[in-house]
Amino acid sequence: MGVEVITHDVVIMGSGIAGLRAAVEIKRKYGDKIDLGIISKVQLMRSHSVAAEGGTGAVLYPEEGDSFALHAWDTIKGSDFLADQDAVWNFVKLMPEEILLLDHWGMPWSRREDGRIRQRPFGGHSFPRATMSADKVGHNEMRTLYNKLLQYDKWERYDEWFITNYVVENGIYKGLYAINMKDGKLYLFRSKAAIIATGGVGRLYAFTTYSHTATGDGMAMSFRAGIPIKDPEFVQFHPTGLVPNGILITEGARGEGGILLNNKRERFMARNDCAPHAKELASRDVVSRCIVKEYLEGRAFIDEETKMPYILLDLTHLGEERINERLPSIREISIRYDGIDPAEEPIPVFPAAHYHMGGIHTDIFYKVLDENGNWIKGLFAAGEASAASVHGANRLGSNSTAECLVSGKITGILAAEYAVSSELPEAPEPKRSKEEEDFVYGLLKRESGEPSYSIKHSLEETMMQHFYVYRDPNSMAEGLKKILELRNKFFTNAYVEDKGSIYNTDMIAAMETMNLLDNALIVAKSAMNREESRGAHARVDHPKRDDANWLKHTLAIRNGENDVRFSYWPVTINTWKPVERHY
Ligand SMILES: Cc1cc2nc3c(=O)[nH]c(=O)nc-3n(C[C@H](O)[C@H](O)[C@H](O)COP(=O)(O)OP(=O)(O)OC[C@H]3O[C@@H](n4cnc5c(N)ncnc54)[C@H](O)[C@@H]3O)c2cc1C
Repeated sequence: MGVEVITHDVVIMGSGIAGLRAAVEIKRKYGDKIDLGIISKVQLMRSHSVAAEGGTGAVLYPEEGDSFALHAWDTIKGSDFLADQDAVWNFVKLMPEEILLLDHWGMPWSRREDGRIRQRPFGGHSFPRATMSADKVGHNEMRTLYNKLLQYDKWERYDEWFITNYVVENGIYKGLYAINMKDGKLYLFRSKAAIIATGGVGRLYAFTTYSHTATGDGMAMSFRAGIPIKDPEFVQFHPTGLVPNGILITEGARGEGGILLNNKRERFMARNDCAPHAKELASRDVVSRCIVKEYLEGRAFIDEETKMPYILLDLTHLGEERINERLPSIREISIRYDGIDPAEEPIPVFPAAHYHMGGIHTDIFYKVLDENGNWIKGLFAAGEASAASVHGANRLGSNSTAECLVSGKITGILAAEYAVSSELPEAPEPKRSKEEEDFVYGLLKRESGEPSYSIKHSLEETMMQHFYVYRDPNSMAEGLKKILELRNKFFTNAYVEDKGSIYNTDMIAAMETMNLLDNALIVAKSAMNREESRGAHARVDHPKRDDANWLKHTLAIRNGENDVRFSYWPVTINTWKPVERHY
């Protein structure tokens, strides 16, 4: 059965900060010369990016002591030396202009007493460079970018369209398939260029700061299309997810002076075995490991009702006025979800899955590469879905929204440039994709089985149990076995109750679960493969970083239905040789 075809010059998959920034760049540089389509599985402004809280990293005040070199060094040290240093230099140099452009486009940055844009301290940064908009940076950046985009014509939004897969043939991007959730029909989108800006994969884990939409669809689709996934073993656990629901308590709370206390009311981050200098503002991998260690050694609290462990984040000494000015959402979230007013009592927190350093393999210009480093013509990846790699083994807070802006700008320019100078590639046969035939419609025909939600729930728990902050080889092997069983169960027995075509969210959730199952396989196998501890990847059997054998990027590549094979990619080191990290 055929599908309808929609054609644009450029298609952007995703409308978070990365997708919208790319769209604005295309329109401000190329105007009506580019016919643009933006596809999002949620309403454009409900993209996950609206949740970003604390700040966007950039060097704004060199006269006060900041510099590109300092931002680059902090980022590379934070990455545990796995970041590509050319990508980092590009990133830090392009960032200040992004802050100023947003300012000109109406971004309500917080202000200092002298009227200049306010920045605050963030973990792992040796200068307070998290550019803030109270604690609503993502929401305000999204709103500013969207308002800017409204000034232009010749772009179309496809809100609540779910992309199932994209097609690469002979090293050329050919198009993508998407379901319009309003009528359940499948469409083929043809374009000369496409930008994957589909965000991260936080929903692999049960305890996460991420919205339910962060299922790593772009990564799973790329994996199925044969594209290498770079460094997938590196999942960031943010030290302060609110217990019990995981809602993020921004690092800005520690940036403003918040401290962490164990069940003896000891400020453990100041101990010599944690981070005696940076304390709560060490990099996230370090702080999260210290917190989990407190728990493993019996110094955490246990929530009586949920049995979840937690430690305390104390902001009471900041005072109500400062909390209201700098952390209004944090106060509201704590009161609303935990009944605790942080101006009066400490908040219970524990590390929650927060960011994926891994992603679609690109070069420093965010061009999607195959295993041999050849560009997949017409294809780019931006934002959290991509791995350039600016963040290496551990991202510093505030560097993600920043990278979304930089990668959005770069991919916007390059995709438009490519589109104006090339022909529309031949379409893949306008038929349902293999995934569509085998899976989606097969699933709709199944009359009974296990709800896909329960399989997803088991997967999230499996990842928590076996691939959390500390990774043990025996436990990981057991975890992988469970993942394979869940995959088998899913493909043979998953069941969706809703058989309708209009807004079948049951079906969409099943497709997201399929993507999560692919992503779990990639993360698990890569974590088992890397036999060292680096950044966010902490192996109990290999507790040290091993530069002699592992100073290289993992490329995880699909190998049949249920397997991954590995190839490696060199790390670019052009300024600083790796040294031991101390915070
Ligand atoms: C609570 C929280 C707070 C954070 N705070 C900060 C901060 O203060 N500073 C910072 O630097 N970083 C922060 N981060 C990280 C940062 O917010 C994210 O990394 C960033 O916003 C990701 O943006 P993105 O544009 O790559 O993707 P997203 O904003 O996740 O957007 C993804 C887009 O892709 C679309 N999409 C996905 N799959 C499909 C599909 N199959 N079909 C169609 N469309 C699809 C979605 O609809 C969406 O439009 C925070 C993260 C969290 C969880």
